[in-house]
Amino acid sequence: MTGLVYVLPEHIAYTRAKAGEPFEYRLFGPRGDDMPEKTCPGCLLPLAVGDYTTLIPIGPGDDEEARERCREGRWYNAVSIEAHFGCATGMEIQE
Ligand SMILES: [Zn+2]
Repeated sequence: MTGLVYVLPEHIAYTRAKAGEPFEYRLFGPRGDDMPEKTCPGCLLPLAVGDYTTLIPIGPGDDEEARERCREGRWYNAVSIEAHFGCATGMEIQE
């Protein structure tokens, strides 16, 4: 394992965020077999079928409107990366 996490365009998702607002991780899953292959940036393992995941916001990215809304402390669509729910929050999912 190289430790590199490749971020491809199909890996990018969006979630709502607001500067200064505590971010609440949403729980997604279990992952289906029809979802794009991705690597968790937390543990560098593949996000597998049946895994529970969440989206981690990075920020407004290069979108001018999102940047402006971010600067003004308003809600905006944040470029986000999918990761295991446990890797992002430390919480285990009980089934
Ligand atoms: Zn992980």
